[in-house]
Amino acid sequence: MKKITVIGAGIVGIATASYLRRDGHDVTVVDKLPPGEYASFGNAGILSPGSCVPIAMPGILGKVPGYLSDPMGPLKVRWPYFPQALPWLLRFVTSTGLAQVEKTADALISLLSQTFDAHRPLAQNAGCSDIIRQTGYIVVYDTKQAYRNDALAWKLRRDRGVVCNEIDADAIAKLVPALARNYECGVYLPEQGYVTNPERLTKTLAAQFQKDGGVILQRDVLDIEMGAQGPQALLTDAGRLEFDTLVLCAGVHSGKFAAKLGDAVPLEAERGYHVTYSDPDLQLPMPVCAAQNKLFVTPMEMGTRIAGQSEFAGIEAEPDYGRADVLAKHMKRMFPQVRDVETTRWMGRRPSMPDSKPVIGRATQYANTYYAFGHGHIGLVGSAPTGRIIADLVAGRTPNIDIAPFRVDRF
Ligand SMILES: Cc1cc2nc3c(=O)[nH]c(=O)nc-3n(C[C@H](O)[C@H](O)[C@H](O)COP(=O)(O)OP(=O)(O)OC[C@H]3O[C@@H](n4cnc5c(N)ncnc54)[C@H](O)[C@@H]3O)c2cc1C
Repeated sequence: MKKITVIGAGIVGIATASYLRRDGHDVTVVDKLPPGEYASFGNAGILSPGSCVPIAMPGILGKVPGYLSDPMGPLKVRWPYFPQALPWLLRFVTSTGLAQVEKTADALISLLSQTFDAHRPLAQNAGCSDIIRQTGYIVVYDTKQAYRNDALAWKLRRDRGVVCNEIDADAIAKLVPALARNYECGVYLPEQGYVTNPERLTKTLAAQFQKDGGVILQRDVLDIEMGAQGPQALLTDAGRLEFDTLVLCAGVHSGKFAAKLGDAVPLEAERGYHVTYSDPDLQLPMPVCAAQNKLFVTPMEMGTRIAGQSEFAGIEAEPDYGRADVLAKHMKRMFPQVRDVETTRWMGRRPSMPDSKPVIGRATQYANTYYAFGHGHIGLVGSAPTGRIIADLVAGRTPNIDIAPFRVDRF
């Protein structure tokens, strides 16, 4: 059995550590924050193999000026940061060819279709299966034309076995009566799911990991110490930690560590926001996605959450809660009756790769180092499948999917 250190106690790090611990390894997770308090804290909670459609889609470039000029739009670039984001944005643009998009969707569906199968054993073991719901969700469009404009995305899903049922305005009203009748049509995805509290999921799995003998240390990782054979210890703000095997799950901060190990990666902070209504007085039987605004409204145990937005401003820039206010305005349009007396706003950093695929696999130069980061918009749905793959690799088992599309040196 190996002495393994995992950097990062987000959902990816905790799911990975949990699968490694199930194999009997001596596993330590190191994070400067308590588990689940960074990007994994406040996401929309969607667990969906239907998320196999990449963000970089043919024609997206033509939509960008409209997104940027619309104050209610889903995209914002802080112009002083633009030169730094440019190389990533150019790679994003070169990922939008149809052939590549088809391949990306193939890779993503292979990973994401395992989400329930990989999450459930962890949740069952931790006694928190109640957090995972498989109610399906709906995606709604203001106009039939807007739906037709998304035809390729729906074809990509259907071609890969995702059940997507077209619904009209009356069917939308039956499924989610509280939703305003602003929408001409939509799609119901009955097999998809969500979690009712992403933070509690990560924290509960983390607590179970510790009960099962894993260790979590709250420390800032400053550097990786290299020995003759490669990485051998972490240098932290509270001393040195030796390991046999290292797994990097540091979300958007993974780039600097991967670069130190010889694997420079295009990783960008794609910042998103949420507003959570703790007393919304709203009955929501399932999540609702407003496709044109690229946001989800999800019923959660702490209230109702609206989440979305993509902001390019770097990792450290202060949040611009004006982006959350945009979400709140959309919420009022979707659910005019929502009670907004108690709300909280949040910003999180999606660790995004330009081709919408995470990095999963071994470091190019070191046999004792593995990567599991860059999950972008799909870190919750992709976390447990990723963790299971990393455990397979560490154990010398062949993962049950082809992981070549996720290799770190694909760019
Ligand atoms: C608004 C929004 C909505 C989203 N909705 C969804 C959704 O519905 N479904 C979905 O699947 N995904 C969604 N996502 C994406 C998802 O939240 C992320 O992909 C996921 O949380 C990434 O998890 P992670 O473990 O890789 O990273 P993180 O949760 O960011 O964890 C990384 C950890 O590494 C630690 N770390 C970094 N550097 C160091 C260091 N030097 N020393 C010590 N610790 C360090 C950090 O403190 C952090 O805890 C959404 C994201 C946002 C922002």
